[in-house]
Amino acid sequence: MKAAWAAVVGSPISHSLSPSIFKAFSRETGRPVRHYALTLGPEGLEAALRSARRRPWTGWNVTLPLKVEIMRRLDSIDETARETGAVNAVRFHEGSCFGYNTDLEGFLAPLDKMGFAAGVKRAAVLGAGGAARAVCAALRRRGAGALWVLGRSPERARSLAGDFKARWAPLAERESLEALAYADLVVNATSAGLDGKSCPLPEGFRLRSEALAYDLVYRPADTPFLRAARGAGARTLGGLGMLVAQAAAAWRIWFDEALSERVVEKVEEEVGRHNL
Ligand code: NAP
Repeated sequence: MKAAWAAVVGSPISHSLSPSIFKAFSRETGRPVRHYALTLGPEGLEAALRSARRRPWTGWNVTLPLKVEIMRRLDSIDETARETGAVNAVRFHEGSCFGYNTDLEGFLAPLDKMGFAAGVKRAAVLGAGGAARAVCAALRRRGAGALWVLGRSPERARSLAGDFKARWAPLAERESLEALAYADLVVNATSAGLDGKSCPLPEGFRLRSEALAYDLVYRPADTPFLRAARGAGARTLGGLGMLVAQAAAAWRIWFDEALSERVVEKVEEEVGRHNL
């Protein structure tokens, strides 16, 4: 079997764990795949897609800053990408390219495994960017009760909350503290913590002891948000499970082949060992 071509595209890209994840999927399934990390900014996107349509690409994973920009350049996008306003996976087929969003499925997978997603009564989502939008869409699909968007920029938080019938508050204000204190799920969907130092939780925050604090940031593995939540007595979940689950969903879209739970867990464990 000839190796399929796949890549993660975006900028910066050198930190991406995607090549390691797909290499491990390939080894576990015996399906030959070459997975590259390609630096690509918005200015080069149109030309890159034009060229990609003529080459034997199977798929791309799409990351910042291209997730929104790429949408209008594809032949079609699926319902989840439309709902979340972003594409993070592309499938190429006979000169056409199709966009998908697998972040929503990736976000839910670890929660489902814990039996948590179905029973969320009050959720607080920190951040108002693309990932926060996928989280809100996922929680609404699972029938979450009260949903709060807590954002640094009031306009973005208000706009996101409006799209998902959620309430919103500026991160630094008292209302945020109340939303956090009552939430059974608190999600960090900001990029704070990527530097290993910043924590988006406001001063004086409290969490319920049975709350789950879920950080979408996966590198470093133990983020300031997770440490602060643990210190406040909450349970915690890091972002690596979501990363591997969204990659597994992209694999299914590209190859029409669902990966077994065993493979996904093994790869998560293996990538986690190199992500400390
Ligand atoms: P984005 O669209 O750039 O949004 C980032 C959000 O973070 C914005 O709302 C921004 O606030 C907020 N923010 C940044 N620094 C902050 C700080 N110090 N305090 C408070 N808020 C802050 O990025 P994204 O695509 O949503 O991604 C967000 C994070 O999720 C990234 O770290 C990404 O790596 C992670 N992610 C993980 C997975 C996974 O599979 N685990 C998947 C997708 C994303 P403003 O609104 O004020 O700009």
